[in-house]
Amino acid sequence: MDISASQQFNLQNHLTALGDKYLQDFPEKEQIQSSISYEEGRDNSIYDLEDLTWWPSREDLAKKCPTECQNQENIGKIKQILSDFSNADTPIAQELKSILDNTDFVIGIRPREQQPKPNGGAVFKRGIESEKHKAVLMVSEVLFDEKNKDILPGLLAHEMGHFIDFYNRPHGDYAKLKWQDGAETFADTTGVLIAKGAGYDCNGWANFLATESAKGNNPPHTHTGKHRANNIYAVSKAYDKLRSKQIRN
Ligand SMILES: [Zn+2]
Repeated sequence: MDISASQQFNLQNHLTALGDKYLQDFPEKEQIQSSISYEEGRDNSIYDLEDLTWWPSREDLAKKCPTECQNQENIGKIKQILSDFSNADTPIAQELKSILDNTDFVIGIRPREQQPKPNGGAVFKRGIESEKHKAVLMVSEVLFDEKNKDILPGLLAHEMGHFIDFYNRPHGDYAKLKWQDGAETFADTTGVLIAKGAGYDCNGWANFLATESAKGNNPPHTHTGKHRANNIYAVSKAYDKLRSKQIRN
């Protein structure tokens, strides 16, 4: 493991700087920031950088997202939501739009046999100089089941939160340390801003995280689902409060 490379980038400082930017109008900014940087002490070890710079090969993609599972109607639903997110009239939507417009990206659906529970994944590679960025977004097929339909917008907004995070990382560090503590809670937080700006919400996603957490199913290498759900509810509430204040003024 290359220790010097891992020391070049401080995830906590990076997330705090981004939070300062996106949450600047929120009176609850400090509180939300501390929810992102909170150390739960579950698993914050340093990972082998090689494990974190994973990029799917054509073979990986074909295995993870088999052709027969790539339902065009479902892919269309994802594209519609992403287009709604990036065309909203908010600064974060404008930033997302400029990222997505300059990114070659692949959307893949993971079959229920491989992913029986709702899940998503995002990998983002910043383009060098005038090169386009590259991204892969994978979501589970079960998200299109009737009982899970409220989860999808929040999960997609969360993945777009990762894109914003990775895009703003120093070149070469985009995919590193992504599982450590606050990165997931940060993606949930920016996800709320992205979703709500476009008239969606992240409650279905938060309820799913909370329900799974209550059953003892917590995502590895990050805050518990309970912590993340509470953060999503708090950010949503703060967003609504700020919005109604802005409308009144
Ligand atoms: Zn994530």
